[in-house]
Amino acid sequence: MLIRYRNRIARQIVNGILGAYTIAIMIMGMQGMHHQVSFTTATFLFPVFAILYLIHSNPYDIEIGAVNVGAFEDMITYSYTHKRDILLMSLFMHDFEGSGKKYPVEIQNTIRHFYSDFFKGAVLFQITNGRMILVVDLAKNPAYENSVNHMLSNFSMEYPKYKLDFKINITKSVDAISEINDYVGLIKYIESGMKENDVHYIDEKDIEQYFEYKYILTQLEDINRKKDLNDPRVEVYCQPVLNIITGKYDTAEALMRLRLEKIGMVYPDRFIPVAEENGYIHTLSKIILNKTCEHIKAMLDCTYIVKRISVNFAVSEVRDESFCKDINDIIEKSGIPYEKIAIEITESQNENDFLVMKEKINELRDHGIKFYLDDFGTGYSNFERIMELPFDIIKFDRSMVIASAMDYKSQKMVYYLAKMFSDMNYSVLYEGVETIEDEEKCKKMCANYLQGYKYSKPIPIEQLTEYFEKESA
Ligand code: C2E
Ligand code: CA
Ligand code: CA
Repeated sequence: MLIRYRNRIARQIVNGILGAYTIAIMIMGMQGMHHQVSFTTATFLFPVFAILYLIHSNPYDIEIGAVNVGAFEDMITYSYTHKRDILLMSLFMHDFEGSGKKYPVEIQNTIRHFYSDFFKGAVLFQITNGRMILVVDLAKNPAYENSVNHMLSNFSMEYPKYKLDFKINITKSVDAISEINDYVGLIKYIESGMKENDVHYIDEKDIEQYFEYKYILTQLEDINRKKDLNDPRVEVYCQPVLNIITGKYDTAEALMRLRLEKIGMVYPDRFIPVAEENGYIHTLSKIILNKTCEHIKAMLDCTYIVKRISVNFAVSEVRDESFCKDINDIIEKSGIPYEKIAIEITESQNENDFLVMKEKINELRDHGIKFYLDDFGTGYSNFERIMELPFDIIKFDRSMVIASAMDYKSQKMVYYLAKMFSDMNYSVLYEGVETIEDEEKCKKMCANYLQGYKYSKPIPIEQLTEYFEKESA
């Protein structure tokens, strides 16, 4: 069996067991020559122990011929300490992720044949269900680049048979990573930005970005743990909003930035998704709200006319039990009137969110806080629900401004949407107004407020005083 199925079993295991039996038989022979049989039974225990040891130390998937993640870590440490260059090829199939679902037999065969046919001495590791990493020793495979291409072209021929989504990542060993042994983390990070059914060669820039991501994540963790509402790493930028009726700037949107020691300023696209995934977003939003309130207080004290400043909240935060209390507490502590704060949220596709949101918006609105519907026109809007939620202002996304400049149909559509909201006593705000043409169009489409680079980029909140006016004495 061992010899017949040797291709399915890692070479080291086959060699180990065959070697153990050879030694056992030799000992038996020697005993036979000396007419002594007392150890015969004991010698056979040796291979039995060897097999048990191998199976338990290396949980082994007999169907595809892969060893597990513990062995993967050993392999990485080994190749790092022995300065062996290796190539890692990762195959991820999300259909099998987190489930006990087995790979179909054809896939098992394909995978087995892939790793034994194209490379010498390659080892396949099953990291989790759906995630495999093939490790190739480069010294043993000097023509590995050809082999990789060969294997990939074979893969693309096999793929149409199964049509299962996949992501393939290929990387050579990297010193910085071998040290802390987190190839799986790197691969997962790259996969998160990848399309399905794609092959990616990890380069230095990817690795740099991965370490930056890890650094941002630890900083976010720390901010969340300290829960300091004045944490200096979280900065409030503001974009002034033009009020069409008064022709002045008296409202603005607060936008978050991080300022981190090692990398300087970090923009939302780099950290908001990370914060949301890890459950840190609410701490960040509370810091922004707190700093915004304190700044509004300072401006009001200097007789600036501040109608309100809007702060962004994620839908996941509204779901939180303590949402209303957290907001009330911060505003109350700052001593500004509630109506100086507005909350921007996007539509949720989730049916369950709807009732919770409605209840919470109503509760906060009773205190005077205004609500903006953010990014209108980017998702699949459900008008029935929008109408039931008591929003004050509908923010038309920049994509709507762009659409209105395209064809006649799109232009009519944006116009009638805006008109409908306007007729129903919502205020309409256009985001992403960049040019004079944008401005003129929006003004004709029931705009009450305009926001965009045409007026100002987001600026540190301290600079809002350059846009807002003071009460005349
Ligand atoms: P958003 O709420 O839709 O914010 C508007 C974004 O559009 C801002 O990007 C702003 O800088 C950008 N923008 C402003 N004017 C123009 C323009 O004329 N043209 C174009 N192309 N873009 C313009 P930013 O600051 O990078 O923020 C990105 C997103 O991050 C925000 O989108 C929001 O979803 C999120 N975000 C920002 N701050 C916070 C926050 O404090 N809390 C939460 N939960 N999310 C935030
Ligand atoms: Ca917003
Ligand atoms: Ca928006």
